[in-house]
This record gives sequence, structure tokens and C-alpha cells, in this order.
Amino acid sequence: MSSDDKKEARHKAAMEKQKESVDASIAAADIERGVGILLTGNGKGKTSSAFGMVLRALGYAHKIGIVQFIKGQQLSGEEIYVRDHCPEIAFYQMGTGFTWDTQDRSSDIAAARTTWEQARAMLQDPNLDLVVLDELTYMLSFDYLSEEEILDAIRNRPREQSVVVTGRGGGAGLREIMDTVSEVKDVKHAYNAGIMARRGVDY
Ligand code: ATP
Ligand code: MG
Repeated sequence: MSSDDKKEARHKAAMEKQKESVDASIAAADIERGVGILLTGNGKGKTSSAFGMVLRALGYAHKIGIVQFIKGQQLSGEEIYVRDHCPEIAFYQMGTGFTWDTQDRSSDIAAARTTWEQARAMLQDPNLDLVVLDELTYMLSFDYLSEEEILDAIRNRPREQSVVVTGRGGGAGLREIMDTVSEVKDVKHAYNAGIMARRGVDY
């Protein structure tokens, strides 16, 4: 056997083994319900991944709700697109009520609560297939919202509804109740090489 043939045979055997294990996992997965997903970690890719799922869900005409727990100082392409082209998506952003640099903790908390009420209503709406709670984790790390209240609302959502939470940190509670937890690792970021945030890529 030539070394190319050997490589070919090894590859074939490895692929067959992998297929067997994937097929076994697929056969073992027999629960059909919505999925809870936490996208966390310090690397880039959390919000963009959540919006990737929004695009996926749109492909099947699923009903979508999005709440962004961020102040609206920098418009993002996804916000512009959803507002202009997706009137069927329920979209709410915390917006101007919240500022990272304000010393006014009580007005931040009020804005967080108003925003959370929108999210909570979505988590109770059986018509929604996918709910995205972008940057929700900061509300927990700043202690602006009650963790128990958030965990309860996510746990008690309609069975068929999937929910995606993004943001750094988030605490053990969220990790515990979500079905899929991915941590995006910051290997390197263009910003640290002095490259400016780019329209259509970073926002
Ligand atoms: P994205 O929205 O690009 O998916 P993200 O949601 O994972 O990023 P956030 O913490 O929400 O990350 O930050 C959003 C913005 O900060 C984006 O402009 C992104 O490029 C930038 N950013 C993300 N990670 C880093 C990092 N490790 N260093 C510097 N800037 C970052
Ligand atoms: Mg983000």
C-alpha cells in the first residue's frame, strides 16, 4: 500500500468511527423541546452568534423576540436591519435610559427593570419560538435585576420556546439551568493591535 493509500484508509476508518458515534448520539437524543443557550466568555462572537440563530429561525418563519440590555449609543447593523426590514420581530432595546458611566444607579436599575418586563412578557408568550436576551448577564453582575426572578422566568417559559442569553460572566445559576453553554475564548482581538471597530463586522 502506498503512503497515500495508507493515509486514505486511516482517514476512512476515522470518519467511520466518528459517524458511528454521531449516529449513536442522534439516536439517543429523543427529547423534543425548546433549548436554553448561554453564550458567554471574553472573546468576540456572542451577539453575532445569537443573531445567526435569528437568521436561522427566520428561514423557518419562526416567531422571534429580541431584547437588548444595552445602552443605545452605538447603532448596530443588526438593530438597523431588524428595525427596517423585520417588523414581524418583537424588538426592544434598553436604550437611552441606561449609561455605563452614570453614577445614577437607581435610574439604571429602573431602566433595567422596564427592559426586563419586556423580556419577561416574551418568556411567557407561547407564540414566540426564539427569544434572544442580548447582554442580559451584566444585569446580574451589577445586581440590577433579581437572579431568582430571571432564572424562574427562563425555567418556566413555554416548552417549545428556545432562549439565547449572551454576555460575559453570568454566574453559576444561568450555567446550571441552560442546556447548552458555550464560552467564547479571547485568543486575540484586532482592537488590541490598534485596529478600529469596523462597521458591519463589530457593530
Ligand atoms: P459580537 O457582537 O461581535 O459578536 P460579542 O457580543 O461577543 O461581540 P461584546 O462583549 O458584546 O462581544 O462586545 C461587543 C463589541 O466589542 C464588538 O464590537 C466586538 O468586536 C468587541 N469585542 C468583543 N470581544 C472583544 C475583545 N476580547 N477585545 C476587544 N473588543 C472586543
Ligand atoms: Mg455582545
